[in-house]
Amino acid sequence: MMIDQQTRLYGVVGEPIGHSLSPTMQNAAFRTSGLNAVFLAFASKDAEGCLRGMKALGIRGMSVTIPHKAAVMPLLDEVNPLAEKIGAVNTIVNDDGRLVGHNTDALGALRALEEKTDPAGKRCLLFGAGGAARAVGFVLKERGVTLSVVNRSADRGERLAGRLGCPYIPLDAAVHHRADMIIQTTPVGMYPHVHQCPVPEAILEKGMVVMDIIYNPLETRLLKKAGERGCILVDGLSMFVYQGAEQFKLWTGIHPPVSDMRRAVEAVLRGRNERD
Ligand code: NAP
Repeated sequence: MMIDQQTRLYGVVGEPIGHSLSPTMQNAAFRTSGLNAVFLAFASKDAEGCLRGMKALGIRGMSVTIPHKAAVMPLLDEVNPLAEKIGAVNTIVNDDGRLVGHNTDALGALRALEEKTDPAGKRCLLFGAGGAARAVGFVLKERGVTLSVVNRSADRGERLAGRLGCPYIPLDAAVHHRADMIIQTTPVGMYPHVHQCPVPEAILEKGMVVMDIIYNPLETRLLKKAGERGCILVDGLSMFVYQGAEQFKLWTGIHPPVSDMRRAVEAVLRGRNERD
């Protein structure tokens, strides 16, 4: 790749950022699309300074991760309605000096799910009530899904359920509820705690759609158990790649090379797991 005076700069900002796979994914997309652009990881706790730097240096687009997803919102020139409703921005577009915030987690989750099923009219148990659950919950509600929020802490669970206009179910009562779809959005089961699973295995039934948004490991314990019971599986890597593909489209206006993006991330994840 040639870097010269025309090269456009993009990046991801967060803290910590060392394990982010966004540079791998977006640089693969730039390469395949033949764009003179580069994507870097910026470790910073200073959200305001980052946005000022973005404007001053003409950085074209920024992915935003923990802990900045809510903090950047009041600092932007505009926030799109879906991101406003979710209460989190994970993507900033620099539109000739105007910074516009979006949330692509929601659309990424929906595209991943819609590859395997039509969610409209399905009963869904949404495990977790954090930022990712909010993004998934709002977009599924708009698609006509009948949601219930299942969460460990009642206060957060009830708050999200209230915003979504749906019931809250305590984690230990989930086993008594029937569903067509389970969406797991907590970090439980993520590397290195790969033997944990927040969803009671007794509720998994043949034909049920089971999505886990964790992508390290690629096959979580939940997905393994759900596969053994004949469930339809949606992995977290699909959501990650589709949310990244939506970012790429917002930044460049070009159709994203989704297969190359997925291949690049998958190669790094497999390499990491073999080494550890
Ligand atoms: P968050 O805002 O911190 O929320 C975490 C949620 O998980 C909370 O509801 C919390 O419950 C619950 N939780 C945490 N530890 C738990 C435990 N030991 N047992 C039961 N519940 C537990 O986090 P987030 O931003 O939503 O992210 C959650 C996960 O999604 C992370 O692993 C992240 O990497 C992943 N993610 C993936 C994608 C993707 O593209 N695939 C995108 C975004 C996020 P309490 O309310 O009880 O604390």
